[in-house]
Amino acid sequence: MSSAVERLGEVRDRIATAEREAKRPAGSATLVAVSKTFDAADIRPVIEAGQRVFGENRVQEAQGKWPALKAEFPDIELHLIGPLQSNKAKEAVALFDVIETVDREKIAAELAREIAKQGKAPRLYVQVNTGSEPQKAGIEPTEAVAFVKRCRDTHGLAIEGLMCIPPADENPGPHFALLAKLAKEASVEKLSMGMSGDYETAVAFGATSVRVGSAILGTR
Ligand SMILES: *Cc1c(COP(=O)(O)O)cnc(C)c1O
Repeated sequence: MSSAVERLGEVRDRIATAEREAKRPAGSATLVAVSKTFDAADIRPVIEAGQRVFGENRVQEAQGKWPALKAEFPDIELHLIGPLQSNKAKEAVALFDVIETVDREKIAAELAREIAKQGKAPRLYVQVNTGSEPQKAGIEPTEAVAFVKRCRDTHGLAIEGLMCIPPADENPGPHFALLAKLAKEASVEKLSMGMSGDYETAVAFGATSVRVGSAILGTR
């Protein structure tokens, strides 16, 4: 049985190969190691192996393990990749370096308020529901470009990129292509797309970060 640290090395190698095959610069796709459901003792070896960028999908769960780890390893960058409730905006702004799930007006307004109040500005992505799945978070693709513009013009938020989670049962390529097209139209540079099953495909479609959980830390 392989360890999380061995699997981390393998994922890094595969990202490097995918970058080469796509004729992209080495290191142009950042690995976000998704640590949800795992506790600090599971995560620590991965940090000690050099991984610094992590993703969590729940604010409350992240609050339980990351403040101490961030104090110990100050160069850690923590991404919120799960849905954000507006009553958690304060905690999210305080803890996360990147919030990838801005997807509606109310959240944009709350984040703008907290950023002004706390004098701390996490980098922000807009989540797009590329498959228009009713149960899934994210703004509709047809509304995404206008929403990014409203985030900037109405709320004064600098949106850095777009994020998507393609439908589980579909070929992800068209969804990654759609996200890349919308990013271009909205004039944002970053693309957060690709998970354990499809991160190499995402790199081929231009992902600037991939969010990989189970392929590193194991099944949840
Ligand atoms: C859990 C999660 C991931 C990682 O999924 P794996 O299949 O375990 O790699 C990526 N993105 C989001 C938004 C998630 O919630």
